[in-house]
Amino acid sequence: IPTITSATDAGINNADISDKALHVVQELQKAGYTAYLVGGCVRDLILGTKPKDFDISTNATPEQIKRTFGRNARIIGRRFKLVHVRYGYEVLEVATFRADASDRDKVGSNEMSEGDQGQLLRDNVYGTIEEDVVRRDFTVNSLYYNSVSGEILDFMDGIADIKAKKLRSIGEPEQRFTEDPVRMLRVIRFAAKLGFEMEPEALKMIEEQGKLLSHVSSARLFEEVLKLFHGGAAYDTYQLLRKYGLFKYLFPFTDSMVVDGVEGMPERALLNTDKRVNKGKPVIPAFLFACMMWDPVKADAQVLMDDGASESHAWRVAMNDGLRDQNQYVAVPRRLAEIILDIWNIHFRLIKRNPRMVKACLTNRRFRAAYDFLLLRTMVHEVDAEVGEWWTQIQEVDDEEREAMVAELN
Ligand code: ATP
Ligand code: MG
Repeated sequence: IPTITSATDAGINNADISDKALHVVQELQKAGYTAYLVGGCVRDLILGTKPKDFDISTNATPEQIKRTFGRNARIIGRRFKLVHVRYGYEVLEVATFRADASDRDKVGSNEMSEGDQGQLLRDNVYGTIEEDVVRRDFTVNSLYYNSVSGEILDFMDGIADIKAKKLRSIGEPEQRFTEDPVRMLRVIRFAAKLGFEMEPEALKMIEEQGKLLSHVSSARLFEEVLKLFHGGAAYDTYQLLRKYGLFKYLFPFTDSMVVDGVEGMPERALLNTDKRVNKGKPVIPAFLFACMMWDPVKADAQVLMDDGASESHAWRVAMNDGLRDQNQYVAVPRRLAEIILDIWNIHFRLIKRNPRMVKACLTNRRFRAAYDFLLLRTMVHEVDAEVGEWWTQIQEVDDEEREAMVAELN
């Protein structure tokens, strides 16, 4: 039985919630279903920070949600189905109450999937709100907010934990992290991002069982890496991942080259990413990966050159091998791998400063990322600062001065 707290008492003001999210909850309720804002957005509202997105939980099935929102709604997902309700650029994720898949025998009769594959059928197990709450990871992520009535359902003392800044697992950390090792990464992420305290049993589990992460699919780890490093607290997250020995399950080749106490490429890249995210500037995953993978790629290229390979051959092989090897751990989509290669290759052109290539570099669609990458390399003293300054300057001057700068190269 949940404790019911009013939004006012918890410090939630509906004015801080996206109109579209409020609308979706309202429409579902009008159609006769129960519907709540849930998870991270409720947590963030209570903390007084701006939620990244709004997730909605309901007892309506995906088909019923789809019927309620018609052309604005699209059923997605393979492992379990959920619905994206779209208004312009804003997408609300609406999920049906679900029981934990590991409890599926108990709730087998609730199965409503019409899928055709075994896995889809198995994992699409709908449940009650009471089942939905216990499959969630932490108490602070387990609140349900009825934005129409203004009531928060708190089954796990989540509000108290938010106020006390405590990350408490729902159930035993050992069991929950074994069920889904990604929860270990989530602990670290929330600890870094929210400044919440981790429970000792969770830390012990992480230190002893980090290797469970090697069983998680590389595609899922890719999604998780983006959440870890694009959330505005990438540097602190990284430090915690290193401290508790989880970083090596994401970037093993990079991890083996990190020197404690030295701010190298990975550290600089993460600080740079945080700065951009916190200023509201866009970030691209390819830049992050280009930086994270750089040290091992560079070391590989060096080995090949020492063995007598030509510079261009060594780099090409090292880059492709580096991407291929890293891909075993964190699956980088093909399209993204192309951009990573572009960033590396164009940054080499920036270093060369061939007069006939300057214009093409400046108008290249990857120029910005390659330039930022170059600047990071100057910061770790791998590239002469003068080269970076030259490219900074040429972007600021008028056409005439630009031509003079290029002419001086000859
Ligand atoms: P963020 O602010 O980063 O979006 P979040 O808590 O909303 O944080 P999401 O990944 O968006 O995180 O997930 C939404 C909710 O779904 C969580 O708050 C949690 O209740 C639940 N959840 C997500 N991933 C897991 C998981 N691996 N195990 C259990 N529950 C999860
Ligand atoms: Mg969320």
